[in-house]
Amino acid sequence: MAQILDGKAYADRMLDEVKAAVAARKNSGLRAPCLAVVLVGDDPASQVYVKGKIAACAKTGIESIEHRPAADVTQSELNLLIEGLNADPDVDGILVQLPLPKHLDSKAALHRINPAKDVDGFHPLNQGRLFEGLPGLRPCTPSACMRMLKFHGVEMAGKRAVVLGRSEIVGKPMALMLLEENATVTIAHSRTADLPAVCREADILVAAVGRPGLVEGSWIKPGAVVVDVGINRVTDLAFGERIFAADPVKLAKLREKGHVLCGDVRFGEAMQVAGAVTPVPGGVGPLTIAGLLRNTLKACEALVCPG
Ligand code: NAD
Repeated sequence: MAQILDGKAYADRMLDEVKAAVAARKNSGLRAPCLAVVLVGDDPASQVYVKGKIAACAKTGIESIEHRPAADVTQSELNLLIEGLNADPDVDGILVQLPLPKHLDSKAALHRINPAKDVDGFHPLNQGRLFEGLPGLRPCTPSACMRMLKFHGVEMAGKRAVVLGRSEIVGKPMALMLLEENATVTIAHSRTADLPAVCREADILVAAVGRPGLVEGSWIKPGAVVVDVGINRVTDLAFGERIFAADPVKLAKLREKGHVLCGDVRFGEAMQVAGAVTPVPGGVGPLTIAGLLRNTLKACEALVCPG
């Protein structure tokens, strides 16, 4: 059986480090870092994510401010809000929760954020710094995944890595970070021919697609390290019976509650082939939040783009 890479345990470790650093700041008379979260409208999933981020701030001593513009806020009103946060010397990090309502231009909003406060790492300047291999605020999900892989001693240099998904939030930055560690990286996506064969080449397989149970056990190279970024809610029992055939726990939960969370990888099947696998939930999700708080501390300490 594969080793389960416990993202929650490693995230707790990261949060403890942040908490200690925040306490040290306060002890030396400095203020706590402050994260401003902008949540537009009332999308239920976004509300859950924001609640989790704010609760994690409280746990580490990071201050948080929540701004909740109505769903019909205009682009210029949102821009004004972001400009105000950019100019506020007591705000270190700004996070605009995605997705935004359809009438708003997400990129335009993200590009407004002062790069030194861009704790999600989505601003082109920070993406450019990652591209050039320079330090900067890096996207939380891939950077925390990389930290966890290193913590577990996963060798990357010279290994074949396949990243499934090419989003700017996860897939592309993850591929760049693996490349930085000298892995030989392939980015696969919805138009890749013979996806199973490409995945089977991977010593490290990262799935960030958003398709429940897409990656079957037979797609995984024996002994591979599998990082499952996908978060999907399954409600269809017939579909669940197919993708959870080797995962009796998930199937039982689906039957009992009528819904269950799962990743892009068939966990039960992966456990029989891989060397190590991240579970969903309890894998990459908690790491993302820990990465965000680490970035907020980093922004506060002005380690990024000093001056
Ligand atoms: P996205 O929708 O922006 O990108 C999905 C990518 O998958 C695209 O590049 C597309 O080409 C590729 N793709 C789609 N269908 C495919 C298929 N059948 N075969 C191969 N590739 C396919 O998604 P995203 O924002 O990168 O998120 C991906 C998943 O990760 C989602 O489930 C999301 O909820 C999850 N996510 C989790 C965390 C976390 O903290 N765990 C953070 C971010 C995203």
